[in-house]
Amino acid sequence: MILKGKCLCEKISFEAEDIPGVVFNCHCSRCRKSHGTAFATQVFAQRKTLKFIKGEELLSEYDGESGGLRTFCSSCGSRLMNYSKDTMDYLSICVSALDPEFNLKPTADCFVDDKFSWTKVDEGIQQFAAYPPM
Ligand SMILES: [Zn+2]
Ligand SMILES: [Zn+2]
Repeated sequence: MILKGKCLCEKISFEAEDIPGVVFNCHCSRCRKSHGTAFATQVFAQRKTLKFIKGEELLSEYDGESGGLRTFCSSCGSRLMNYSKDTMDYLSICVSALDPEFNLKPTADCFVDDKFSWTKVDEGIQQFAAYPPM
């Protein structure tokens, strides 16, 4: 499936083909800070299929962690995607950036050991203490 998304100000829009069934809630403190939320929901997609329809020049990359880049719109601050300098295999896209018709449901919760005490996780999906094995 080709996912399509845009940032809040709509100056950046993009598309990418998903990796089916890989939609993770990440509760780690880095994702919480970066997204400004209690946890971040990310869908994995094939890096080679990532295409910017417009606004790529506005994409900012935060390079603060080993190998991983967290990107956001330099105009409105919306978090858009994370990718690595080291792999072209996959990237993760913030579900919050996707157009509303992509109502993707999480398939796992990650870093549940780090979550806020009040965050409820869905008992019906997989849970991992830290990174999932992939
Ligand atoms: Zn924007
Ligand atoms: Zn995280």
